[in-house]
Amino acid sequence: MAGKQWSEEELKAVSDELEDKGPQAAIQWAVDNFDTQDLSLACSFGAEDVALVDMLVKIKPDARIFYLDTNKLFKETIDVMERLKERYNINPEKYTSKMSLAEQAAEFGDELWAKDPKKCCDIRKITPLKEALSGLSAWITGIRRDQAPARANAPVVGWDAMFNLVKINPLVKWTSEDVWDYIRANNVPYNELHDKNYPSIGCEPCTNEVKPGEDPRAGRWAGFKKTECGLHDK
Ligand code: SF4
Repeated sequence: MAGKQWSEEELKAVSDELEDKGPQAAIQWAVDNFDTQDLSLACSFGAEDVALVDMLVKIKPDARIFYLDTNKLFKETIDVMERLKERYNINPEKYTSKMSLAEQAAEFGDELWAKDPKKCCDIRKITPLKEALSGLSAWITGIRRDQAPARANAPVVGWDAMFNLVKINPLVKWTSEDVWDYIRANNVPYNELHDKNYPSIGCEPCTNEVKPGEDPRAGRWAGFKKTECGLHDK
């Protein structure tokens, strides 16, 4: 039923229906209800997202996948993207800031991420994300409810009021262990930084190793109150 305008009530009913059916059912609902060009998976190449790539491609081999290249990604992140491309015959679409790092430094000073990470994320992530989502009717994300308080009430399917499209979160009920069980069972390529105490991986300047017992997202924007890049604020 491509092109259908979904009301929030309808999406809530769909979400309730999918709540206990598992990630693949949510993905199947998405591909059944949105045309190929209207639906895309946002992929950061973290553990949740590589699991979703595996699930999505098995359901719909030509599904759209996009990523945000902030120009500050780890080389290990680029490496896992290349391995996923080869394994699944996919071609993730790149969205990047129109402002180069040099232009950013000229306007705001060197290493904006160390002084004002919100502004840096706005420039290097949020603006490219808006561009990526502008032509879509729905996006798929890898957020889980137990990752952060702001994600605790995320529905399986809902209206994304920040970006004005349907948002599908197939992994909301999964724990990190569920994700890793899936990755191992399906031999999914993953970012090797996960084996070096980096449970949550963003840009290189803003991601630190996490010590045993620390919150998995403690390594993101260490020293700042910031815990989210703004992609999933609402
Ligand atoms: S995570 Fe850091 S480097 Fe990346 S866009 Fe945000 S502030 Fe900038």
